[in-house]
Amino acid sequence: MTQRPDDRTAAVTEGFRQMVGHSPTGVWSAPGRVNLIGEHTDYNGGLCLPIALPQRTYAAVSTRGDRTLRVRSLERPHETVEIDLAEIGPDHPGGWAAYVAGVLWALERDGHAVPGLDVVVGSSVPVGAGLSSSAALECSVAAAVSDLAALGLLESTEGRARLARLCVEAENVIAGAPTGGLDQSASLLCAERSALLLDCRSGETSQVPFDLASRGLTLLVTDTRAPHALVDGQYAARRAACEEAARVLGVDTLREISVDELDAASARLPDDVVRARVRHVVTEIDRVEQTVAALGRDDLAAVGRLFDASHASLRDDYEVSCPELDVATATARAHGALGARMTGGGFGGSCIAIVPADAVDVVAGAIATAFEAHGYTPPASFAVVAGGPAARDA
Ligand code: ADP
Ligand code: MG
Repeated sequence: MTQRPDDRTAAVTEGFRQMVGHSPTGVWSAPGRVNLIGEHTDYNGGLCLPIALPQRTYAAVSTRGDRTLRVRSLERPHETVEIDLAEIGPDHPGGWAAYVAGVLWALERDGHAVPGLDVVVGSSVPVGAGLSSSAALECSVAAAVSDLAALGLLESTEGRARLARLCVEAENVIAGAPTGGLDQSASLLCAERSALLLDCRSGETSQVPFDLASRGLTLLVTDTRAPHALVDGQYAARRAACEEAARVLGVDTLREISVDELDAASARLPDDVVRARVRHVVTEIDRVEQTVAALGRDDLAAVGRLFDASHASLRDDYEVSCPELDVATATARAHGALGARMTGGGFGGSCIAIVPADAVDVVAGAIATAFEAHGYTPPASFAVVAGGPAARDA
């Protein structure tokens, strides 16, 4: 079957044999993601445009004869978590295993007969870098259960979208992390060499060809490794500001305000901060549409300018950037990137830049040098191509 760049199929299979004493029934994997553009739009019924990363989480899985989940992660080698399926709930189990147990809980609540499982996971997705290792973990396990319990949810777009919603529930309710649905949809629905246009109001998705290599370009991802201490309260505050603005404007979500209506809508808002938040959301949704159009006519220079405008909007209007993200994006631009922006929720995490293929090392090196000069933690930069969705690997 498919051999992937940093394949951990053999490693999780060996880890499974050590834990269980026999080979797993199969290995399933699911990718992390980067969002090309459309940030903080998902909870406003807006548009976003993620690609799946080549980095993936692999799950070696077999069913058991009882109702127990036993799970181990190669990233947490000294910890095996065991829980009865009936005991899964908010904070049960706590910690990382909640992302795995939550998927079984959500599937069961959705009416599916879920068996006990032995699971060993291993991942090449950087954890906590804003590249969605959490969704990759959930979706690798969800893919396994869909096949092992013969649910058939991987066989259709609708089935995959349903599985994505259940993984969101797992993360929201059992892991206790607020997340809007972008990550899980990307992990289950993205296609190779394509970005996924996701309409968070209708739930509709479509594939947008995204192949920078054919244009002599590369997407460079830089994990800033910036500590994101403020993220929880800030995320909730941004969501609340958007909901309040929608209420004042008499709309369900800010998606209903077009760029043409922005000035009139702004005049009705209570203060400059809320006006700036709304301006980001409305213009960002418009930038997603413009990006899809620019990709359609192969105008990567225009896509680069849209990346820059998105970053400025997130920094100045939405105020979710941080010094490390600003330095990384500005340095990438200064060394030849066509455009660069923070990606993910902000306050740390990663940035992306469209870079001429022959300038990748120069740009990555310049970002590392700039970080050193500022006294920041060394960043990790890597080039990516758009990978495929959650699937069975072995
Ligand atoms: P992100 O999704 O951006 O990487 P999150 O904070 O949403 O960051 O998710 C990271 C959490 O997901 C980790 O702290 C851990 O609990 C869990 N996790 C992700 N991948 C793994 C893995 N391979 N092994 C164990 N836990 C993991
Ligand atoms: Mg996450």
